[in-house]
Amino acid sequence: MALQVFVNYFEKIGKKQESIVSLRPNTFVKFMLSARNIVKKYNRLEVLKGVNVQIEQGEIVSIVGSSGAGKSTLLHILGTLDEADGGEIMLNNQPIHQLKGKKLANFRNNHIGFVFQFHHLLPEFTALENVCVPGWIAQRGKKELQLHATELLTLLGLADKIHNKPQELSGGEQQRVAVARALINQPDIIFADEPTGNLDSANAKDLHDLFLRLQQELGHTFLIVTHNEELAALSNRVLHMKDGLIVS
Ligand code: ADP
Repeated sequence: MALQVFVNYFEKIGKKQESIVSLRPNTFVKFMLSARNIVKKYNRLEVLKGVNVQIEQGEIVSIVGSSGAGKSTLLHILGTLDEADGGEIMLNNQPIHQLKGKKLANFRNNHIGFVFQFHHLLPEFTALENVCVPGWIAQRGKKELQLHATELLTLLGLADKIHNKPQELSGGEQQRVAVARALINQPDIIFADEPTGNLDSANAKDLHDLFLRLQQELGHTFLIVTHNEELAALSNRVLHMKDGLIVS
């Protein structure tokens, strides 16, 4: 899709176009996410043994490694869905390891997007309503939110499906609704845990292309846990996890 379409989209939602500009070569980059010495234990099992991660704004970074290496645990901790036993996490210059309760929930809703292997869409809600949910929680204006959700679904090729319920959508379409829901509050970063794990190869490829477009044309930042080699290959960087540590 032409860059101009995205520029128009930015203008409509009132977001500055800096994130497009900042992706051009030779412009400055900053760390969107910086985590230091993350430690996590389950009883006596040391699952994360002092993990360091830095993600630049506008990067797609994949985490790969064998089952049980600690990838999902790390993603959930960085995404504030789980709490570390030690370490520091800065997200867009905020020390998020210090946030608790309602402040943490608000921060998560406004700054972090999630895409999981299973879409977790609410079955009784339409695609449009599902995308609106994080915006309702953020108490955004009804009209503006609906317009934004419609724009996002249109951008993701679902203009004619906005009033469909999840069971009336294909697996690939359901996952695109989940991506729109992740984007609705214009997050700083999107965490994805095996996002293509439940898709056939054609739909998986579509989702990869979508992530790339969202990165290249809207400047979105992704951290993705994946077993999918193609998805890992299109990332800017691949982090290999083994036994609770990033080894390369
Ligand atoms: P990966 O995503 O790399 O497959 P996980 O992060 O899911 O690995 O799990 C890492 C290790 O932590 C595994 O040995 C797993 O059994 C253990 N683990 C994960 N979550 C829990 C939990 N809630 N309670 C106990 N052990 C857990």
